[in-house]
Amino acid sequence: MTNTDSPYIAIGMMNLAQVQRRLAQIQKQLLELGPLHPGSISEQYNVCGQAGCRCKDPKKPQKHGPYYQLSFTWQGKSSTRFLRPEQVEPMRQKVANYKRLRELMKEWVSLGVELERAERAEEKLASGH
Ligand SMILES: [Zn+2]
Repeated sequence: MTNTDSPYIAIGMMNLAQVQRRLAQIQKQLLELGPLHPGSISEQYNVCGQAGCRCKDPKKPQKHGPYYQLSFTWQGKSSTRFLRPEQVEPMRQKVANYKRLRELMKEWVSLGVELERAERAEEKLASGH
């Protein structure tokens, strides 16, 4: 074992032990992910129907908002949901967790491919061919 076992070694440059160590880290990180949700959060500003409202001021209109909405597509179906102010931060965290899940899954698959390569390389070394 060397002291170069950092998770930042490029895939393709790892030895078998490094791949296995990173796989274990990913599985642990996946277990530690909190609640998640797909999508993205956007801010909206609206104009109302009330006559003489500040949102329709001819010189300096001030629209109402921000209103926050979550948009996402899941299993082929697109949805948009408004978020109450107190829902915004928890939803930001869920959206970030979902993004992290996808990154970890992608890395796990890459490491699965890498593991296969590293195992073959070490077998080759061991057999002396
Ligand atoms: Zn208004």
